[in-house]
Amino acid sequence: MNYYSTNGKAPIADLQKAVVKGLAEDRGLYMPERINTLPKVFFDNIQDMSFRDIAYNVASAFFGEDVDLDALQDLVYDTLPFDCPVVKVKDNIYTLELFHGPTLAFKDVGARFMARLLQYFLRQGSAACCTGTNSTVNVLVATSGDTGSAVANGFLGVDGIHVYVLYPKGKVSPIQECQFTTLGQNITAIEVDGVFDDCQALVKSAFMDEELNKHMMLTSANSINVARFLPQAFYYFNAYARMKKLGLADNLVMCVPSGNFGNICSALFGHAMGLPVKRFIAANNANDIFYKYLQTGKYEPKASVQTLANAMDVGNPSNFARIINLYSQNGQLTEAETHAAIVSLISGATYSDEQIKETMCQCYEETGYILDPHGACGYQALVDGLLPGEIGVFCETAHPAKFKEKVDDILGIDVEIPERLAAFMRGEKQSVPMTKNFEDFKQYLLNV
Ligand SMILES: *Cc1c(COP(=O)(O)O)cnc(C)c1O
Repeated sequence: MNYYSTNGKAPIADLQKAVVKGLAEDRGLYMPERINTLPKVFFDNIQDMSFRDIAYNVASAFFGEDVDLDALQDLVYDTLPFDCPVVKVKDNIYTLELFHGPTLAFKDVGARFMARLLQYFLRQGSAACCTGTNSTVNVLVATSGDTGSAVANGFLGVDGIHVYVLYPKGKVSPIQECQFTTLGQNITAIEVDGVFDDCQALVKSAFMDEELNKHMMLTSANSINVARFLPQAFYYFNAYARMKKLGLADNLVMCVPSGNFGNICSALFGHAMGLPVKRFIAANNANDIFYKYLQTGKYEPKASVQTLANAMDVGNPSNFARIINLYSQNGQLTEAETHAAIVSLISGATYSDEQIKETMCQCYEETGYILDPHGACGYQALVDGLLPGEIGVFCETAHPAKFKEKVDDILGIDVEIPERLAAFMRGEKQSVPMTKNFEDFKQYLLNV
């Protein structure tokens, strides 16, 4: 399968290049040149298939031309040693819990899949574009909390790859910090004396530094990578299967709490592959750029504002370009036609911090279900937006214990910390102190 850039000015890439490079030369996002549909027999039997086997079928449609099928199956099974259950919250509202992976958030799946796919290409020895003076591939990732833990755990113990997680000193919650500072092995945590933007600037400068790139192979693992975002489609096929088993899959509305729009974009790819979902809702916090686009047809990115659902604090969602490209049929439709196609399938919602708190309290009182601040946006969007006869499924994108301080404070409870998370917290924190000065970071990398 070939991949083209949403900006249309970069050469076509194969899967391996798209995964190693992440971003195309023209700064566009890679898109697969075809979206294979899945056969009727798959949907006929899906309700009796396991999450892993559903995922393997979906993965074959995306990557089956480029990865040996036995290896792909291993890779999928290794990524998904856990389930992704659907839980009834109330009436016609269900939640798809995406937090049963190692760091209790949905990004675990994409991160692990990407790590194993990169490893597959390295082992093939065919990663011609990634051989430098040293055969190790170095992944640099800047994090304000969640991405760092998912990437670090996804890449943990994957040979041939070393991960450097840069995070702002004192700006990451202790629960988040321990998920990438206690791992050891091929994961190095770098504690930057600065803010998140300083971490991001260090990573960007490193990618642009000629001397450093000659010295070592550098790559990123951010959510625009096709190997990170496409596997999230597994979740939506699984949701459909579980709802079909319950006899509730006919008028399905999928609601996705969204920030960079990678998760919902994977769901939309699923829809294009034939997944029978009636419509989608993108739930936002106060960062309402996409919501405004749906209302007005104008896309006006702006600086993000800080909210309770901070993994969705995005003012210029990177996957917006993919959604436009998908529904404009790679630029064949006009802006107005594209907007019409999008609003016929996707609606939006936006919630302030006050509303998020109110939703969490109300849902807990009424149903006993503990929402995290991200999932709360999804739940409320269904409460407000479901039409008669529709069944709604919203994604719970993280376990509430990941945001324990906030959730405890809002609900006046003591959220139980799952053993997996508690184990991280018992580990010994190890990190490398770093200034926000690029020369210091560069010298460090040249000497490791
Ligand atoms: C990353 C994240 C989101 C937003 O997902 P996108 O793919 O960026 O839209 C929502 N909730 C949680 C908990 C996250 O970590």
